[in-house]
Amino acid sequence: MSIVSEYFGSQVFDDRVMRANLSADVYASLRKTIDEGKELDITVANAVAEAMKNWAVSKGATHFTHWFQPLTGITAEKHDSFIAPSPDGSVIMEFSGKELIKGEPDASSFPSGGLRATFEARGYTAWDPTSYAFIKGKTLCIPTAFCSYGGHALDKKTPLLRSMEVLSKEALRVLRLFGNDTAKRVVSSVGPEQEYFLITKEMYDQRPDLRFTGRTLFGAKPPKGQELDDHYFGVIKPGVTAFMEDLNDELWKLGILAKTEHNEVAPAQHELAPIYTTTNIATDHNQLMMEIMQKVAAKHGLVCLLHEKPFAGVNGSGKHNNWSISTDSGQNLLSPGDTPYENAQFLLFLCAVIKAVDDYQDLLRIAVATAGNDHRLGANEAPPAVISIFLGDELNAVLEAIENDTPYQGTEKMQMKLGVDVLPKFNRDTTDRNRTSPFAFTGNKFEFRMLGSSNSIACANIMLNSAVAESLRIYADRLEKAEDFETALHDMIKKTIKDHKHIIFNGNGYDDTWITEATEKRGLLNYRTTADCMPHLLDEKNVKMLTSLGVFTVDELRSRRDIMLENYCKTVTIEANTMINMVHKRVAPAITRFTADLAKQASEKKALFPDLACSYEKELILKLSTLTDCITEKTDDLEMAVIGLQEAEDVIAESALIRDTVLPKMSELRIPCDQAELLTAKSYWPFPTYGDILFSVK
Ligand code: ADP
Ligand code: MG
Repeated sequence: MSIVSEYFGSQVFDDRVMRANLSADVYASLRKTIDEGKELDITVANAVAEAMKNWAVSKGATHFTHWFQPLTGITAEKHDSFIAPSPDGSVIMEFSGKELIKGEPDASSFPSGGLRATFEARGYTAWDPTSYAFIKGKTLCIPTAFCSYGGHALDKKTPLLRSMEVLSKEALRVLRLFGNDTAKRVVSSVGPEQEYFLITKEMYDQRPDLRFTGRTLFGAKPPKGQELDDHYFGVIKPGVTAFMEDLNDELWKLGILAKTEHNEVAPAQHELAPIYTTTNIATDHNQLMMEIMQKVAAKHGLVCLLHEKPFAGVNGSGKHNNWSISTDSGQNLLSPGDTPYENAQFLLFLCAVIKAVDDYQDLLRIAVATAGNDHRLGANEAPPAVISIFLGDELNAVLEAIENDTPYQGTEKMQMKLGVDVLPKFNRDTTDRNRTSPFAFTGNKFEFRMLGSSNSIACANIMLNSAVAESLRIYADRLEKAEDFETALHDMIKKTIKDHKHIIFNGNGYDDTWITEATEKRGLLNYRTTADCMPHLLDEKNVKMLTSLGVFTVDELRSRRDIMLENYCKTVTIEANTMINMVHKRVAPAITRFTADLAKQASEKKALFPDLACSYEKELILKLSTLTDCITEKTDDLEMAVIGLQEAEDVIAESALIRDTVLPKMSELRIPCDQAELLTAKSYWPFPTYGDILFSVK
């Protein structure tokens, strides 16, 4: 392979390609659509489609697809070929503006949560020109939004684009008040750090739990796990290096800015972080990245596990959503500036985020809620399920000084009068060190750390953008009417700090005493599971905010709540059934075979030496038989719990049963199985152990 800069983005219909292949007029109108959201007329669309098709065909593409993100959480595509018959029996390659702009896939098999009547099976996809088209394999993929015929969003991109739109609108109102007349748009950008596990395909294939559920449902702790901390940032193994090199090439060709990679804390765990970009593109890229990781792994005889908790007792995988907002000219609004005015503006945007996170703690929790992520949050390896904000000592001191009208005790003592005094320079290194906070300020951006590794980042950013837009809307409403802007600004910042400082926490988020303090003293929310948080999506304040901003309709919210809860119930039910199946088909027979052989061995020994006690065999048989009885009992309990789900009246009730009966019974069943694993000879155990799997890649 040649030099990276030469093939970077070679599979993307990006600005360079557009400029080279479109007439100046067409290029200019398309740019207006991309940059300013201006509508595209059909003649321009036809010209773009023609250029896109020619470019794609020259790269070997034969098909095109509208690539979209339904609520299943993965991406979907339906391929159509470019060919059109000619009278002489040959074919020509065709692609029209209409086909580019709109598609009509059959939507009936995608979850809609009751949004679509059966007679209205079709949905439609609409081109998102702000995210570049790209070639995957032999297919030109056109990023699109996906809606029902009635216009309801059936995907994650539509509300994400809406949330970016309202954030831009409200942020611009605030910027105008600070005298910025030039910014045309405010965009949110994201750099998601992606964690994952790599194991060999050979190990994977032998574990039905990994194949059916993405995580291990059994497995005793290996003698060596992550306790030596020798994996984090350690030397990367050759098999992993080969995978990472290949992965980078594939991602770079797709214009994805893969930047850093390293080993994570757990054995076999790694991380890949891209350079940040506009939120909807970052979202598309992250979806693509997850897909390509799995494809490239397969080529190397490996499997990439994106589940949040593939192994109990070993760190799970998350995704850190680094988020900030900036103007179209590149001014980061979460970066303290050099002048008093810029500082005041920074503090107002900072306050908007603090207020948003506090007012909508529940929405942020909901945005990351899945059955898989529930295993991580609050498990002393990932942030707790309680949301708090880390600001760092310096910024905290500044806010305290403003709140109390006291001098700021930084390197030099100074009064903090907004709009007059310059903020001290924050040292990024000191603000960057807290790794236990769910929502940490890291100098010029916030890092939201609660996302699960398999989550689409769309949901978290929809909620974040919307909640911050809401704070900004309230600020702008007040400031626009203020007689004395500076006094009003000062009062508002002060009030935000007073009202919302309970969400600011700079200590150790993994500490148990914090959870007590957070919930009992500070009154912060602690929704431990998906079943706990998801119903609150429809709380009045949430519905009011999201609908008044136009990000969701009430029906869309209801459908999403139902789909997320259904997903939770289905995921856990599949896990429970897999567990029951593995016990009956593998675990119990293996233990029985081993104990039978032990008994046979003991009686053969006894035949030879009648005085022998055979205590080794006897004790082991006794222990394992006791465990088998326990396993049988616990399996029956779990089966009953699964059957009990049929009693549930609706999905909310079912999710509560999952939380209160099925999941606890699964944990109980696992214990005797894992104990039996430790006592059973290796050659009898029916699948690879944690030790085998975690150290499988060479
Ligand atoms: P770390 O969190 O490990 O200290 P960095 O601060 O360098 O690492 O960045 C982590 C991620 O944050 C990267 O994906 C990076 O591109 C992203 N990032 C950096 N600046 C911004 C920004 N202004 N907006 C959004 N993401 C950003
Ligand atoms: Mg980070």
